[in-house]
Amino acid sequence: MSFSTLGLAPSLINAVAEIGYTEPTAIQTAAIPAALRGEDVLGAAQTGSGKTAAFALPMLHALLARKGGPRALHGLVLVPTRELAAQVGEAIRKLVQHLPEPVKVSILFGGVSINPQMMALRGGADIVVATPGRLLDLIDHNALSISSASMLVLDEADRLLDLGFSEEINRVLALLPAKRQNLFFSATFPPAVQALAGKMLDKPARIEV
Ligand code: AMP
Repeated sequence: MSFSTLGLAPSLINAVAEIGYTEPTAIQTAAIPAALRGEDVLGAAQTGSGKTAAFALPMLHALLARKGGPRALHGLVLVPTRELAAQVGEAIRKLVQHLPEPVKVSILFGGVSINPQMMALRGGADIVVATPGRLLDLIDHNALSISSASMLVLDEADRLLDLGFSEEINRVLALLPAKRQNLFFSATFPPAVQALAGKMLDKPARIEV
């Protein structure tokens, strides 16, 4: 299997080669074609499976296909912790560095001063990777709007719920456009996670690795 058979834009195939990935992982092989068809994705995957690129590459593919106009948020990635926000955001930035056009990735998390994040959001962002509480704070401060986001990723959904973010997730969902693509990843599927997936996803491609 090679990245060039998955349907990704040539600039993305080039970017993964430059990063040094030679073959897609199992979750990438399964999730990328489904996501490129516009399907919702329900992925059972652990850290280390390559799930970040499994959602980041289709997100970037759709972003690159979008025509001009003023910058409006395209992709939102919700993560449970500051560490994961930094890790996922930096992984996406690494891919973006190899693309021919600039893509702005904002990383937002709580526990630090909100002002630098508000400043960094001036001029907008293409992709936001955020913990739910800080994301809502920034929306409440009018520092960003998520009403144009056409792709939502929930990463480590089980940990998001374990950490008590259920209410915040519901608020975020209500602020997103109804017509959007949803990619949902979790390591485990207790009833609360299944209920959230059932509520968020429309006939998802189910992927287990
Ligand atoms: P993740 O599960 O997304 O946190 O990825 C785990 C690690 O695997 C990260 O260090 C990635 O850079 C790396 N990785 C992701 N996809 C590939 C791939 N196709 N080939 C080699 N390494 C990869």
